[in-house]
Amino acid sequence: MNFLKKYQEEFEELDKMESDFINDELIWSILNNHKTPTKEEVRQVLKKAETCTRLTPDEMAILVQNQDQETLNEMYSLAHTLKEEVYGDRIVFFAPLYISDECANNCLYCGFRSTNKSIKRKTLSMDEISEEVKIMIEEGQKRTVLVYGESPKTQVDFMVKTVEQVYKTKTEHGEIRRANINCAPLRVEELKKLKEIGIGTYQVFQETYHHETYKKVHPQGTIKGHYRWRLYSMDRAQEAGVDDNGLGVLFGLYDWRFEVLALLFHTIHLEEKFNGVGPHTISFPRITPAIDTPYSSNPEYAVSDEEFKKLIAVLRLSIPYTGLICTAREPDEVRREVIPLGVSQIDAGTRIGVGAYSQAKNANSIPTKEQFTIGDSRTLDDVVKEICEMKAIPSFCTACYRAGRTGEEFMKVAKTKFVYNYCIPNAVFTLKEYALDYASESSLHIINKTINEHIDSLKDKPSYPKVLELLKRIEDGERDVRL
Ligand code: SF4
Repeated sequence: MNFLKKYQEEFEELDKMESDFINDELIWSILNNHKTPTKEEVRQVLKKAETCTRLTPDEMAILVQNQDQETLNEMYSLAHTLKEEVYGDRIVFFAPLYISDECANNCLYCGFRSTNKSIKRKTLSMDEISEEVKIMIEEGQKRTVLVYGESPKTQVDFMVKTVEQVYKTKTEHGEIRRANINCAPLRVEELKKLKEIGIGTYQVFQETYHHETYKKVHPQGTIKGHYRWRLYSMDRAQEAGVDDNGLGVLFGLYDWRFEVLALLFHTIHLEEKFNGVGPHTISFPRITPAIDTPYSSNPEYAVSDEEFKKLIAVLRLSIPYTGLICTAREPDEVRREVIPLGVSQIDAGTRIGVGAYSQAKNANSIPTKEQFTIGDSRTLDDVVKEICEMKAIPSFCTACYRAGRTGEEFMKVAKTKFVYNYCIPNAVFTLKEYALDYASESSLHIINKTINEHIDSLKDKPSYPKVLELLKRIEDGERDVRL
């Protein structure tokens, strides 16, 4: 069968729908209705946001359009507070693992697009996956996101094998405990196979929600050219029982104000249809130059650093219980500035490109430009140290998914802020493991200080005796304890 026609029947069904849940005109009319919000209007929205409730599109638009520095500062401060109330000051760490850069799609902005001849294509063998994973484990990683192109070589049965391979690769320091997936949209039956193998979050980024722009940057005749097949990928995931889902936009393709409202509409659609289960995470990469990809060097709707700050705070305020991921595409100085605005997850020690961890180790060279350009190429240890210096706690926790707190169960604890009671102890446990197994001499002091301060902060909690007991077990050599 022609690979590009694989989902033809589904495409035809989706084409019969009169409309989808992203109404471009409606989004622009909401934004235009709130072109110049008053301080009073902004403060009224912030009052509602304080209650940790999802905002309406009109309320989000008021925050998006706000240009007043005084109330912008209030937005930044509340975004920080809300994130601390829900998840505490923990920042969860992960690192991507590129499995394949073979791709049949031809997205104008992407270094992996099929017409890019500058990339020597590669799909990792099972042995090569183990090599990469071992290096990641030895650096201290516990969570990964596996990244695949969309090609005949990387269909679902192959993905299942790769996930199995990741989970069964072990070193003296343990294993990767959560493998998330970033891949193409799939059918329900395909997704069920991923559910069975035990993936963490399933990420499919819409890239842009604006219909016309989507068409422009994703050539027709490719699978990715079908907007609705991608738009409804999370509906199919929920139907398949894959209930931790990651949404995302590639900022720079279209107006950021439109895209954040569209992310909210997507959230509302999912929450209404699936019993309150919206996105587990939202990612907001900005376009950075990709290898031999002129479109990526000069994006039409480039998002400035100030706008970037604002969009992160707006997302935190509007969908307060969702994980927000700021990737290593951003330079360290930008990450330092935006992390306090509501970011809850970051990648660190990231190596991009297929086989990049082995390459970096063996050739001592770090590829920084591939599918995109990496902005923060520091080691994991450097970033761990910096997060401690920022008075937050690095976390390698994978507890919720392994304890079955996914989908509806996760939303229950996140929306009520109860998850805080898991996040901080689990951050302490996993950072303790990091301190014992991986930390460099120069980072150890601040890491231990961070651990001790956080243990102290738990003194009044019912979990405190259990926390002390589990910490003792880690000190005695046990690993992978959790609440
Ligand atoms: S307790 Fe749950 S939400 Fe908190 S860091 Fe761990 S896995 Fe994430």
